Amino acid sequence: SVVAQAFLLLSIILVIAIAVIQINQQQILSPGLKYGIVLDAGSSRTTVYVYEWPAEKENDTGVVSQTFKCSVKGPGISSYESNPGALAKAFDDCLNKVKERIPVHLHKNTSVHLGATAGMRLLRLQNETAASEVLESIQNYFRAQPFDFRGAHIITGPEEGLYGWITANYIMGNFLERNLWRTWVHPYRKETMGALDLGGASTQISFIPADSQENLNSTLQVKLYGYNYNVYTRSFQCYGRDEAEKRLLALLLQKSNSSSNVDNPCYPRNYNTTFTMKYLSGSLCTQPLRPANYYPNELVHFHGTGDPGLCQEMVSSLFNFSACRDRKDCPFNGIHRPKVKGNFVAFSGFYYTINALNLSGHFSLDDFNSSMWFFCSHTWAQLHLMLPKFEEIYARSYCFSANFIYYLLIHGYNFDTETWPRIHFQKEVGNSSIAWSLGYMLSLTNMIPAEGKLIQLPLKP
Ligand code: AMP
Repeated sequence: SVVAQAFLLLSIILVIAIAVIQINQQQILSPGLKYGIVLDAGSSRTTVYVYEWPAEKENDTGVVSQTFKCSVKGPGISSYESNPGALAKAFDDCLNKVKERIPVHLHKNTSVHLGATAGMRLLRLQNETAASEVLESIQNYFRAQPFDFRGAHIITGPEEGLYGWITANYIMGNFLERNLWRTWVHPYRKETMGALDLGGASTQISFIPADSQENLNSTLQVKLYGYNYNVYTRSFQCYGRDEAEKRLLALLLQKSNSSSNVDNPCYPRNYNTTFTMKYLSGSLCTQPLRPANYYPNELVHFHGTGDPGLCQEMVSSLFNFSACRDRKDCPFNGIHRPKVKGNFVAFSGFYYTINALNLSGHFSLDDFNSSMWFFCSHTWAQLHLMLPKFEEIYARSYCFSANFIYYLLIHGYNFDTETWPRIHFQKEVGNSSIAWSLGYMLSLTNMIPAEGKLIQLPLKP
């Protein structure tokens, strides 16, 4: 009968509906996620990033996102040169939190990559054995962890620059985006962005120049999702924020009449602090400024005078172009080539400094200069009230950092009033940090179909 048929049809629909609901529920409860971990072992600290993505969608898509991040307590791994055994304890806190974030049954399939940057590059140049011991102690630590450890490596400056560029463009959807039908396609007429990264010991610039044949030695060819990109990328050692500031302090000491009491125009007025000679002159970047009678434990007191004009002048001397105008190995060699092109994203140390000046996103060079002057004119007591989050080691240095950023971008890379507003100061997109670590993982795990290894131009015939 009709009633029986209708009843049968309804029953079938009901069964199908229940099945669909159950499948959906299962997907919500166990959506088949995969995880990957990257440790960014920087000069000043180690940051651990956890990434996740739907397991069945890892290739040809742009679905990897950051799900957790923590900072390892204490300094960067290069500071453990004389006590590498102590690294394990420092890592434990952060790694235990990571373990809680990833379902236990997935631990052994979760890859861990540790990439060390300029702090370790410098240590390796200074003391290769110490650098190897630090890396070995990390290997030992991860042997006892449940994850799939893929090694601790010191990455090169150009790699660091390129991975930062990959991360920024990946999370901004410049390689792939979803179309109306939610499939992943190459964006139509969307340019990539240049990347500016300011770390503690080195700084990187990466972008696609107008003419990729111009700077062949500094251009890497990458093929991502079937498209070729010729990325100009350079890293400048000792032009990281912390090492540059150390060079300033060592320079001030050299110019001072006293060997134990030095005025610093870039520190806020009435700020006082003390460093050992080892801190000031122990690094490879400050070795040329080391006094003839160097006693590592000797103390030097610095007194802030908060003088914006003098600070600017002193910072400019860190970019001593005139002394090496014709030398090829000079960091910026007077004029930086190639000419900057397109939009840029400036992250890490660039972002922190801009944020402290109470600026955000895009703004004019005039706005930057007036904010910098305004900030540098404040006393130490006033800064306590002015900064929303007050941390002494950062607060005392923002005036220096702002001046350093100005010189690096304007006189180093030749940005000008016209191109400056094309720099966007930003630290994350959604919840994902802009940092080289994501690009590193995507490349090492072949999650961006890269079709072969990176090719350094010029291409060999
Ligand atoms: P990182 O992103 O850890 O490589 O740090 C890059 C630079 O920014 C280093 O010079 C750090 O000293 C500095 N830095 C890190 N965190 C902060 C922060 N919260 N505020 C200001 N500067 C920071």
